[in-house]
Amino acid sequence: EKTLVWFRRDLRSFDHAALHHALRQSRQVYCAFIFDRAILGTLPANDRRVEFIHASLLELDTALRELGGGLIVSHAWAEQAIPQLAAELGVDAVFCNHDYEPQAIARDTAVATALARDGRKLQSYKDHVIFEKDEVLSQSGKPFSVFTPYKNAWLKKLHTELAPTDMPAYEIDTLRAHFAPLQAALSGIPALSELGFEKTNLSELHIPTGMQGGQALFDDFIDRMPDYDSTRDFPAVKGPSYLSVHLRFGTVSIRALVRRALDAMRIGAGGTGAAVWLSELVWRDFYFMILYQHPHVHERAFKPDYDAIVWESGQHAIDLFQAWCDGLTGYPLVDAAMAQLNQTGYMHNRLRMVTASFLIKDLGIDWRWGERYFAEKLNDFDLSANNGGWQWASSSGCDAQPYFRIFNPLTQSEKFDPDGKFIRRYLPQLNKLSGKQIHAPWRVPALELQMAGITLGRDYPHPLLQHDEARARTLQRYAVVKKVS
Ligand code: FAD
Repeated sequence: EKTLVWFRRDLRSFDHAALHHALRQSRQVYCAFIFDRAILGTLPANDRRVEFIHASLLELDTALRELGGGLIVSHAWAEQAIPQLAAELGVDAVFCNHDYEPQAIARDTAVATALARDGRKLQSYKDHVIFEKDEVLSQSGKPFSVFTPYKNAWLKKLHTELAPTDMPAYEIDTLRAHFAPLQAALSGIPALSELGFEKTNLSELHIPTGMQGGQALFDDFIDRMPDYDSTRDFPAVKGPSYLSVHLRFGTVSIRALVRRALDAMRIGAGGTGAAVWLSELVWRDFYFMILYQHPHVHERAFKPDYDAIVWESGQHAIDLFQAWCDGLTGYPLVDAAMAQLNQTGYMHNRLRMVTASFLIKDLGIDWRWGERYFAEKLNDFDLSANNGGWQWASSSGCDAQPYFRIFNPLTQSEKFDPDGKFIRRYLPQLNKLSGKQIHAPWRVPALELQMAGITLGRDYPHPLLQHDEARARTLQRYAVVKKVS
């Protein structure tokens, strides 16, 4: 038997479900990655993610060569390229890992159909999550739509079905004899420029790529994991793991991360930090499950009544939205957060909640606009988590915050960036304001503003609106859903 392993968002050569099964079941295993024109065609030339993938593929190819194989890489339409490559190589099957996004499911169905025409099969495995689709169900056998009972059932299943020390690791190394050596004609990874993309500021930002990058970030985080619960909400503090982009592209193994968190929890001291971090990984599984079970969330509210909300529209809405995108709302924490996103492709979780809430519940803009902007900009963009986060903020999601809970951008700023350390990093023009003043420059007396070298409207915008008034408008806007909440 010959098999082709199709890599997609799982760019690693260890603990890889599809690769493991292919090596176990076949005599000769080929590996391929397609830069899919269907996806790349929609992205700007300076997309950081393409550079991240490209760098990670170079490393993956080297790693596979060391094991005796190598990576076939092409720039093509995946729906056609995979069946074609399978035919050229004369393989019996194509192996890959499950993808839960509606478009990916449609693509995989098309590939499976094309392969079947030639008597080949597409075989897919669970790899990106611990529990998927319908593996964690309520007692009545239904998918959960509330997180806490889901998490409890998830943890119970983990502890009863998998001994924590025995989280499966998919062995690759001992099966290396089954790799098919790569012929010269098939080798070679196109340069970034050949794909129509350019180098970005990824290396300036010190965002490490590939398996080594993921491992280095994780090693760095392990010592901080015990403090995660107390540090994770403060954007100026190095609290979180920064592993999201690696989880997105599979340069780390979710099983390895969970195994390590469980180890830390067992040790006792610092276990709370590890438990809270594990909870975040459970949220990730939760949103993958929600997207799979309720694919309509991609376009519509999880709770259908929320689709009746009337958002701001016309040029006025476009202007407000643009100011938010550009970090020109006049609310420093919101603007600094948007600058972080625009400059780095990352945004701290607390700030994702603050900026999303501000767009929806202060500016009255449809959450889908914000969702789309994050999807373009985030290095770690994942449809499931991004959609989950936006629907949480707009209160239309499965386990969202109630519609009448509206973040106050000032209180959030004072609480989570008390001295304005984060704000100063991205808005240096406000540097001379004190820790108290920096959250609301418009409240600073004119003379003090002048002494700090700031003219509102020139160095920094006047606030787009007053939060209290916006809050009242939002409560009115959400009145249409009052009866169902
Ligand atoms: P850590 O705090 O170290 O968490 C570890 C991992 O847990 C993350 O890498 C991520 O995989 C997972 N995780 C953490 N929080 C969540 C969550 N709320 N939902 C699902 N998974 C979570 N996360 C994405 O990976 N991609 C997105 O596109 C995305 N969009 C978001 C949009 C909004 C509006 C909001 C509120 C949140 C979004 N998140 C998204 C979730 C979260 O903000 C990021 O996962 C986190 O900030 C990434 O940083 P980290 O790796 O340092 O996280």
